Amino acid sequence: MIKDYLKKTVSEKWAMGHFNFSENEALRAIVESAAELKTPIFVGTSEGESKHLGLKEAVYLVKAFREEFSIPIFLNADHHKSFETIKAAVDAGYDAILADFSALSFEENIKMTKQSVEYAKSKNPDIIVEGELGYVRGESKIQEVVEIKPEDLTKPEEAARFAKETGVDMLAPAVGNIHGIVIKSAESIDISRIGDIKKAVWENVYLVLHGGSGLGEQEFKNAIEAGISMVHINTEIRVAFTESLRKTLGDMPQETTPYKILTPSIETMKKVIEQKLKIFGSINKI
Ligand SMILES: [Zn+2]
Repeated sequence: MIKDYLKKTVSEKWAMGHFNFSENEALRAIVESAAELKTPIFVGTSEGESKHLGLKEAVYLVKAFREEFSIPIFLNADHHKSFETIKAAVDAGYDAILADFSALSFEENIKMTKQSVEYAKSKNPDIIVEGELGYVRGESKIQEVVEIKPEDLTKPEEAARFAKETGVDMLAPAVGNIHGIVIKSAESIDISRIGDIKKAVWENVYLVLHGGSGLGEQEFKNAIEAGISMVHINTEIRVAFTESLRKTLGDMPQETTPYKILTPSIETMKKVIEQKLKIFGSINKI
């Protein structure tokens, strides 16, 4: 099911949107946007987001939304960085995991990612496992400046070996992308490197672009054309949520009803999400 969509992203040149959530409001904003635009969607929780919401809670919330809206929603354990947290997400029933051992040496990254793939597939043969190779700098927030070093970038020949030896379904390369939003950004995506990596890995290994927040429409389109199958957006919806919440609290200082304070944030996040889904070209793909 997931793989059918991933195959289509390559043959039809579009990308699946991946958006993070840690509470009901962001998840509702993502799912309502996807349902309105008829797009399959990935939703993800990082280790911190998983901890806040709870793994089981995330699995059952997504299950409930899936049933209510009748659209394909896939739940991903985003940037899980230890075998223990990966195992916990697999056991809880996540549809996909990002086994992120990119901070380790190349050999150690291969070893730990392979171990994660083997465990995940033994528990659920349909699960999708993503690995990360290279160093995507930055954090999921607004930052002044983030400098990328040439050695951070993923080498196509290493990507080929990594994909082959680990058995991952998806690969997150470092191609000049940065996590979060950078104010003084000299960020530009190395489009030809994406194309080279896509050629180097197996046909059924799909490329994921992290750090989508702050990138322009043309960069997304070029990256997708070169072989990106999924784009991660987190910081931009966090900013939309928080700015809207601050405004609402300022506008209604006497209001104490949580759902009245939170509802405007859902609408603000939806605007950001819908705009991205249109750029990714994933609308009307269900
Ligand atoms: Zn990421």
